[in-house]
Amino acid sequence: MKKVWIGLGTNIEPRQEHIQQALELLAKNSCITIRKQSSIYETAPVGYTDQADFLNMVLEIETSLSAEALLDFCQGIEQQLGRKRTIRFGPRTIDLDILIYNNENIKTERLIIPHPRMHERAFVLVPLSEIANELLLEKQNKRVGDLIAELPDAHDVKKWSSE
Ligand code: ADP
Ligand code: MG
Repeated sequence: MKKVWIGLGTNIEPRQEHIQQALELLAKNSCITIRKQSSIYETAPVGYTDQADFLNMVLEIETSLSAEALLDFCQGIEQQLGRKRTIRFGPRTIDLDILIYNNENIKTERLIIPHPRMHERAFVLVPLSEIANELLLEKQNKRVGDLIAELPDAHDVKKWSSE
């Protein structure tokens, strides 16, 4: 069994439903067990900023799937939830990124793990810190909590509630 962290993001309504559906599809896969899930956070878009705010969440899962097979499954969920690949970094019904896979370094045409931008993204690190504050990012040689302390925009990532 491999220990894996996955980041979820959505900025097309109904956002909460898209997260919920992705969670259900992951949980339904007999090769995947969801171990921990962060709260849902709301964040302003980064990079391509002319789009709606995101809901973000991070999961710790256990899986017997290879990294490639997990990517296939995650991309299947993205397709099932109607994701249209138009603008890179643009609006999406659901985005599933494999952040860390079994502490492995993977670089193929389809997959870079650890996710190359996770260490600088508050919308990844803040939810991740809720379930893995002490997790060490080996390339940076820093723990999640320490990386957050260095991020100027960490306080912009706020817990979201549907009420
Ligand atoms: P982004 O998440 O960067 O906004 P996409 O979700 O459209 O963009 O992903 C683009 C490509 O990133 C995918 O086709 C996938 O093959 C590749 N990719 C590379 N590394 C990863 C990873 N760790 N997790 C998910 N996708 C990845
Ligand atoms: Mg992605």
